[in-house]
Amino acid sequence: MAVVETRKLTKVYAKAELGAVNEVDLLVREGEFLVFLGPSGSGKTTLLRMIAGLEEPTRGEVRIGGRDVTRLAPRDRGIAMVFQSYALYPHLTVRKNILFPLQAQKVPRARHAEKVEWASSLLGIGHLLERRPRELSGGERQRVALARAIVREPQVFLLDEPLSNLDAKLRASAREELSRFHKRVGTTTIYVTHDQIEAMAMGDRVVVLAQGVVRQIGTPREVYDQPADTFVATFLGSPPMNLMEAGEVIAGFRPEHLLPASLATGPAVPLRLRVATVEYLGAERIVYGVLLGGRFDGQKVVSRIPATVPAAYAADETHDFVVPEDRLEFFERASGKRTGRREFAWR
Ligand code: ADP
Ligand code: MG
Repeated sequence: MAVVETRKLTKVYAKAELGAVNEVDLLVREGEFLVFLGPSGSGKTTLLRMIAGLEEPTRGEVRIGGRDVTRLAPRDRGIAMVFQSYALYPHLTVRKNILFPLQAQKVPRARHAEKVEWASSLLGIGHLLERRPRELSGGERQRVALARAIVREPQVFLLDEPLSNLDAKLRASAREELSRFHKRVGTTTIYVTHDQIEAMAMGDRVVVLAQGVVRQIGTPREVYDQPADTFVATFLGSPPMNLMEAGEVIAGFRPEHLLPASLATGPAVPLRLRVATVEYLGAERIVYGVLLGGRFDGQKVVSRIPATVPAAYAADETHDFVVPEDRLEFFERASGKRTGRREFAWR
């Protein structure tokens, strides 16, 4: 059953011509970790806030647990939200911060201690209960904010870029911790991020948004390997997919599939490349180059070469590369949409 459903959910702000969110249809499954991914301004927060009841839709419907909640207040929706700024109460201890929603919900006092115990042990912060927020690290504060959200045992968690205040290393561990936490509690979660790595790493499914429109919904593997259009193809992946315009179609291939010719195993398209620059990143090298000869002479391309490949690359050298034929993607030029069409002249 869908825990959260949106039907043609739309938000047009006054004076704006384009909607911030346009006719979004979503079915979020029980226990799922669903990620909204898109660039800044693509409507992720607005969509999440309409689901939460913090923003009134211009049109459309929100259903939670099978009920139409479009006109219900946030507190009546069975959701808990964690924002980018955790907004813990600075003068209250961790214990009291976690208790706060229980008091508002009028949970009997006798049950408070056990609930705080449960939430804090799930997040591993039992030893921090008597501290105040300023005595905590960023990661610990983030866990307190999550504990405060789960203590209400919501049907749905809504998380808006909750890790973006953490430094890179902490983000990676917090990401993994959050995934483990989700597996343990199993609460349906919608998670907003502009970070494709977070989306790929954490999401059961990813909703890719651009300009308030859903471009694709799929598992991380689907959105990466079978992008619905050129926007998804280039938004996911770093560096992005190489795209070559050729008449009615655009041919695309990911940098990791532009391989040194010596690694070719099956049918492949040969490409000769003049190296422009090389970024040495330890585990891999990113080779930026220009194609030489043929139909795409002069076209810029990028290749990712793992450190396990011993070949050396330097600026101004010429090297032979290949793209395995089954790694080529094709998109309609007019619409940008992926197409099954495969015939294509490289020469
Ligand atoms: P995201 O979270 O993906 O960065 P937002 O949902 O915050 O995007 O914003 C989507 C679009 O709606 C943006 O163009 C933004 O400028 C606009 N927008 C957001 N909030 C308001 C508001 N209160 N009034 C007018 N426009 C807004
Ligand atoms: Mg946002």
